[in-house]
Amino acid sequence: MSKKERLGRLLGFPLDPADKRAVERELANYQFAVGKHAAIIIIVMEFLMMLAMCLRPGGPFASPRRQGYFLLYAALILVTAAFLAGGCFLRIRRGDRPELFLGFSAVYTLLISFWGCAITLLDQLGGNNLSVYCYVILSVAAFGVLRPWQAIGIFGSSFFLLNYYLPKFQGDGSNLFSNLVNTFIIVALATLISGLLYRSRVTGFHDKMVIEEQYQKIQEINCRLNRQVMTDELTNMNNRRYLEEVIAERFNDCGLKRLPVAGMMLDIDFFKEYNDHYGHQAGDHCLKEIGAVLLAFVEKERAAAVRYGGEEFFLCLFDCGLAKALEEAEKLRGQIEERRLERQDVPAGRLTVSIGVCANCLSLSDMVDHADKALYQAKAQGRNRVAAYRHSQDAEGN
Ligand code: GH3
Ligand code: MG
Ligand code: MG
Repeated sequence: MSKKERLGRLLGFPLDPADKRAVERELANYQFAVGKHAAIIIIVMEFLMMLAMCLRPGGPFASPRRQGYFLLYAALILVTAAFLAGGCFLRIRRGDRPELFLGFSAVYTLLISFWGCAITLLDQLGGNNLSVYCYVILSVAAFGVLRPWQAIGIFGSSFFLLNYYLPKFQGDGSNLFSNLVNTFIIVALATLISGLLYRSRVTGFHDKMVIEEQYQKIQEINCRLNRQVMTDELTNMNNRRYLEEVIAERFNDCGLKRLPVAGMMLDIDFFKEYNDHYGHQAGDHCLKEIGAVLLAFVEKERAAAVRYGGEEFFLCLFDCGLAKALEEAEKLRGQIEERRLERQDVPAGRLTVSIGVCANCLSLSDMVDHADKALYQAKAQGRNRVAAYRHSQDAEGN
C-alpha cells in the first residue's frame, strides 16, 4: 500500500469500492438508529430548558444573555427537528444512497458543534466555564458516525470559532490561554475517539459482511451436498437415504393425521439375465427408463419414489388405502409393459416388473418389509404381476 493510500485510509477516504456501498448502508443504519433517539432526547431537553426559562421571574427576555440562550435552545429544537424529518425522508426515499444520509448527519453534527460554541460563549459572558463545549463535542464524537477527515474538519472549525470569539466575550481575558489549551485537548480527544470508533465500526461491519457471505456460501454448498447425498446418480431419482429421512417424516405426518399410506416395492423381472444378455450399459439404460416412468407416475399422484437399490424401487402413496394402491400398482405395471422395452432373452419378449403392495403399516420399516414380502409373492406367482401383502404372510414366514 502506498503512502498516499495509507494516509487516505487513515482519514477515512477510500472504502474498498467493492463493499463501500454495503458498509455505508450499515453505517447509515447505525447512525439513524442512534441519531433518532438522540434527536428526540435533545428536543425534549431543550424544550424543558425553554419552559424553565419561561417560568423564571422576568421570563426568557429579561436580559440579552437570557434571550440568547432562549433563541439558541429554540434554534437547536428547529435544527434537530429538521434533522429528524430530513433523515427520515432520506432513509425512506433515498435508502439506496446511504452516503446522502451520512453527509446530512455530518452537517447536523457540524451545526451542533457550533451550537455548543455559541452556548459556551454565552456562558463565558456570565463567567462560566467550558463544560457545555466539552460535553457537546465529546458526545458528538461518541455518537456520531464521522469519517476521520470530517471529524478533523468539524472539531477543528469549532475550535477556531470558539477561540476566535472568546476574547470578544470574555471581559478580562484572564482565562484565554487556559481555555485555548483546554479546548485543544478536548478537540484532540474528540477527534481521536471519533476516528477510533469509525475504524472499529467499519471493520466490524466489514467482518460481519464477510461472515455473512461465507455463511451463505456454506449454506449453498450444504444444500447441494444434501441434494447429492439423497440423489441416485444413475436414475436421478431420490435414493434410500431420502426414504429414511424425508419420506419417513411424511409417513409420520400422515400417521398423526390418521391418513392411510400405501407402499410398493417394484423389481425388474429377470434383470440379471438382461444384463448377461445385453450388457451392463444396456441394463443401466433400462434402469433410467424405469426411473423416468416412476418419476412421471409420482408427479401425478400424491406419492414419492426412490431407487431402493439395484433394480428395486420403492414407492410411497400418501392418503391412499390398499385397494387404491393395488389399482395404481396395476396401472404402473401396465405402463412399463406398454413401454415395450424389448428383450429376446425371456419368453415375454419385453421388459416387465413385479410389484408388491401393502398398506396400513405401523412404521416405514414395516411398510418396506411388507411390500418386499408381497413382491416375493408376485415373483413366486410367475412375475409381471402385482401382489398384495397379507398379514398371514408373516405367520407363514415364521
Ligand atoms: P428376479 O426376477 O427374481 O428379480 O430376478 P433378477 O435377475 O432381476 O434378480 P437378481 O437379484 O438375481 O438380479 C438383480 C440384478 O440387477 C443383478 C445385477 O447385475 C443387476 N443390477 C443391480 N444394480 C444394477 C445397476 O446399477 N446396473 C445394472 N446394469 N444392473 C444392475
Ligand atoms: Mg429383479
Ligand atoms: Mg431384486
